[in-house]
This record gives sequence, C-alpha cells and structure tokens, in this order.
Amino acid sequence: TLSRANAVSVRSEMSYVMIKPDGVQRGLVGDIISRFERKGFQLKGLKLYQTPQAVAEEHYKDLKEKPFYPALVGYICSGPVVCMVWEGKGVVASARKLIGATNPLASEPGTIRGDFAIEVGRNVIHGSDSPENGERETAIWFGSEGLVEWTPTMTPWLKE
Ligand code: UDP
Ligand code: MG
Repeated sequence: TLSRANAVSVRSEMSYVMIKPDGVQRGLVGDIISRFERKGFQLKGLKLYQTPQAVAEEHYKDLKEKPFYPALVGYICSGPVVCMVWEGKGVVASARKLIGATNPLASEPGTIRGDFAIEVGRNVIHGSDSPENGERETAIWFGSEGLVEWTPTMTPWLKE
C-alpha cells in the first residue's frame, strides 16, 4: 500500500485565486477567504496588490482578441486585488465550483458570484480554469517572491 510519505511527496494541484478590485472595495475579502479555508484547502500564498497593467495583460493574454479585453484589464487594475494560491487535491475544479459561473446571474446561490455579484464585468473573483493555468498564473503573480511551504496541523482531520 501507498505509505503516507509517498502520498505527500506527490506535488498536489494549485489554483490561483484572486479577489478582484470590486470584491476588495466591497469588503468581501474575509468572507471569501473563509470559504476556501473552511473547505480545507491549504493557503500557500497571499498578498494585497496593486496590479501593473503588464501583469493583468499577461494573466488574461488568451482573451486579448475579445471585445471586453481592454475593459477587463482596466477593471483588474482599478484598485487593489487579493492574490492567493490554494493547494490541494482537486482544488482547481473545486475552486471553480465555490466561485460559480462566469456570469453572476447564472451562478448558483451559495457560490461566491451567485451570492455577491450581478454583472460579468464585476464578478468579484478569479479562479484558474486548469491545473496548468494554476501553475502559469501562480508564476505570474508569485514568481518573484515564491510560495510558503508549511505543514497544517489539521491535515489528519482533512485527509485519510
Ligand atoms: N468577462 C467580461 N465579459 C465577458 C466575459 C468575461 O467582462 O463577456 C470578464 C469577467 O470578469 C471574467 C473574465 O473576463 O471573469 C475572464 O473571462 P473567463 O471567460 O475566463 O471567465 P472566468 O474564468 O473568470 O469565469
Ligand atoms: Mg478564465
């Protein structure tokens, strides 16, 4: 059988999650972080950050041809954001469920966008859409300072 040492030596998945400027201005930071903590994912990076335009452009480069791209980059740079990296098994898909659908009017109640937003251009939060983008976005936002490696004491109560 797989020993615990083997199981934890496998680098687990990361999601880059970001509270957008509207979420910070509206005082939703604590509530949003709490949802990820309660779920049981591990916080690996956290900062309040005034985004330079080049960073927002790199983050959303796949959307460069979309008509909403200039407004999106302006929105992300319009005030401080809260940058986070959450780690754990299945965190990318689970974070997207906690966050809800892109259009907040289509997001289920109980999700972050479903509870807190109305418009797609003010949808409060970002979460990576694949493990590969989790790595890519983590490098963009935390590449220079890196992440914090630590051992949560609750691990035996969250993992079999
Ligand atoms: N967005 C927008 N108008 C649109 C679609 C997207 O302003 O018609 C913004 C919105 O803030 C969204 C972000 O662009 O969160 C990135 O779009 P994506 O399709 O990747 O949605 P997400 O992954 O954030 O749910
Ligand atoms: Mg996306």
